[in-house]
Amino acid sequence: MKPRGIRELDAGPVITNPGNSILIKTGSWRSFMPVSLKENCINCLFCWLYCPDMAVKVNDGKMDGFDYDYCKGCGICALECPGKKGKKAIVMQEEDK
Ligand code: SF4
Ligand code: SF4
Repeated sequence: MKPRGIRELDAGPVITNPGNSILIKTGSWRSFMPVSLKENCINCLFCWLYCPDMAVKVNDGKMDGFDYDYCKGCGICALECPGKKGKKAIVMQEEDK
C-alpha cells in the first residue's frame, strides 16, 4: 500500500464544544473515595497540586474537601499528602455502592 500524505489522512477526533468535560461527572467511575482528616492537614495544598481532575476544593487558601462529582478516586492526593507528623490528612476508603 502506498503511504499517504498528511492531507490525505483521515481526520482524528474533533472537539466541537471546548470545555464540555465539565458536563461529564466522572465521579461515577470511582470505587474508592478520598476522605479528609482535617486534624492532620497542614494546608500545604499538595493534594490540590497533584489531583489530575481539579477535584480538591480550596477555600481561602486552605484545603476544603473534595468535589465528588469529578473525583475519580485515583488516590494520588492521599499518596502525596504529607500530613502532620507522619499522620496522613487524606485516606482512601471503599465507596458505598
Ligand atoms: S496534601 Fe494533605 S496536608 Fe496538604 S493540604 Fe492536602 S490534605 Fe492537607
Ligand atoms: S482521588 Fe484522585 S481524583 Fe480524587 S481528589 Fe484525589 S487526586 Fe483528585
